Amino acid sequence: MDTHLIGARRACSASIRVCSVRISRTGGVAGLFRNFSIGVIACAGLSACADSQFSDNGFKSLAPVSTGSTTAAGGKEWSGRSGASGHPAMTADAVRTAAADFPSCIARLEPAAARRGISQQDFVRFTSGLTPDLRLMDLMDAQPEFTKAFWDYLDTLVTEARIRRGREMLARYDRDFDAVERSYGVDRHVLAAIWGVETNFGSQGGDRPVLRSTATLACVGRRQAYFREEFLSALEIVSRGDVNPDHFKGSWAGAFGPTQFMPTTFKRHAVDFDGDGRRDIVDSIPDVLASMANKLRADGWIAGAPWGYEVSVPRGFDYLKAGRSHQMTLAQWSQLGVRRADGGPLPSGGDTAYLMVPAGAKGPAFLMFQNFRAIMRYNPSEAYALAIGHLADRMRGGGPFVRPWPRQERVLSRNERLELQRHLASRGHDIGEADGRLGPASRHAIMKFQAAQGLPPDGFATASLLDRLRAN
Ligand code: CA
Repeated sequence: MDTHLIGARRACSASIRVCSVRISRTGGVAGLFRNFSIGVIACAGLSACADSQFSDNGFKSLAPVSTGSTTAAGGKEWSGRSGASGHPAMTADAVRTAAADFPSCIARLEPAAARRGISQQDFVRFTSGLTPDLRLMDLMDAQPEFTKAFWDYLDTLVTEARIRRGREMLARYDRDFDAVERSYGVDRHVLAAIWGVETNFGSQGGDRPVLRSTATLACVGRRQAYFREEFLSALEIVSRGDVNPDHFKGSWAGAFGPTQFMPTTFKRHAVDFDGDGRRDIVDSIPDVLASMANKLRADGWIAGAPWGYEVSVPRGFDYLKAGRSHQMTLAQWSQLGVRRADGGPLPSGGDTAYLMVPAGAKGPAFLMFQNFRAIMRYNPSEAYALAIGHLADRMRGGGPFVRPWPRQERVLSRNERLELQRHLASRGHDIGEADGRLGPASRHAIMKFQAAQGLPPDGFATASLLDRLRAN
């Protein structure tokens, strides 16, 4: 995966991961998550994930994850408290010391900027007067306790209002979508869906100046090396005149514009599609759409192929065959009794696919193809990518999922996940590290427990499963 992992991202290999982390978005997702916060993990059910994704496209994550304890992110000033990550660079003292050194830290980056062709004049112009925004330290280390269920993310991201607005945008920019689709082969509905989910079609991309955010994070806190590159790339963008400096705003982590590209993502994938000589992914709709399409194509998008679709599995299906590590051909899935959700047969031929059951045996199942993986390169969360694919289908005129989500199931809190892990460990299961994140080892332990209890071994962790463990 073309990701820039900075640090502690852990692999979540569970097939059914639902994770997300949003590292915020000061804006995205319909504004619901405005100032929302960060670094969170949301793993409903089976999966578990990592503490953050520093993906190719930046600090992204799925969606809001917390329902409460994010008050640290609520105010405007830095809390003055040490970060919850416990990282030595995140203690209150370390933050204050780094903040005091901020002007020198920036000055030390000038030679690196010069090597990128940024003139001394531009360097001074764009960095003089910069001050650190220490609020970002709170945002970086926010750790909400509660997580959302997979279906709650979907509900939040795929709304009637967004479907309607997406259709309006597809009609209004029909000629641009036509041209981009012809050039890149990427489904316009998927582009519209990403545009809609990332920033509600450009209206909610965050209002923090990208230079200030990336400069702060390059000099203060636990991700400085990563953000030095983002900051220098941001300087390149403004000094070349691609983006209007006054419009160069974004999330706390520096993801900007309607596409929420990080500065380094911009460098790799942004294109000048309207031919004015500037790669302006903030103010030019053709550049915005083409840059998204260019990134998806670079990430393996196959023209004309589906991202995935809902399927049904037969009674008694072996859920150990679910998950990203089990790619099979459609003929093989057919042999196992998998059908389209409407009961029809699977098409023949094509790409291999994996089966995703994000809410366990009681919820809908999906076959996912290469294009689903390309969407996940935008944001490495299955919940995000499913929302994008489904929103695209709905804009195209498709209906809701056939099988309902098991909404009666309550998703476990972090403390409950820890308790679940302790119960499993005390029964002799290898659950990996008892960290409240239900990774592959925990999931496997859950499956073994389920099988022993005569339940479908789908690895989906729910309150009822925890009750069962408590009672046994
Ligand atoms: Ca342009």
